[in-house]
Amino acid sequence: MNQGSCFCGAIRFEVHAPMTAVTYCHCSKCRRWHGHVGAYSAVDREGFRLTESRGLKWHQISSTAKRGFCVECGSSVLFDDSSDTQKMSICVGTLDAPTGLSEKAHIYVGSKSDYYEIADGLLKYDTFPGR
Ligand SMILES: [Zn+2]
Ligand SMILES: [Zn+2]
Repeated sequence: MNQGSCFCGAIRFEVHAPMTAVTYCHCSKCRRWHGHVGAYSAVDREGFRLTESRGLKWHQISSTAKRGFCVECGSSVLFDDSSDTQKMSICVGTLDAPTGLSEKAHIYVGSKSDYYEIADGLLKYDTFPGR
């Protein structure tokens, strides 16, 4: 089981299902939202449980997708696209270490900014390849 929380603890959660390897998203929306690249792991919805949600607010970014963040401390915690009925995504920096996760891929590499290079050997996709 993995546990995680926002910076202040007004959002806390548990994960009781296997989590996917970490994907880094370089799209301009993630970069603005997170201050840099977004890092996500996906989990079966039935394996995700909020144990504290008083700080949780959702920011709708498309007809199906929304970002979950803490209104008290500003942490970005969740990414939920309802068109994916099976899984939702967790911002992996909010997980308590050790997470047991490994890295998988970079997505939306074609949208990355110019102040950094991607120098690791992970898979790279210009857009989102699906899971
Ligand atoms: Zn918080
Ligand atoms: Zn993104």
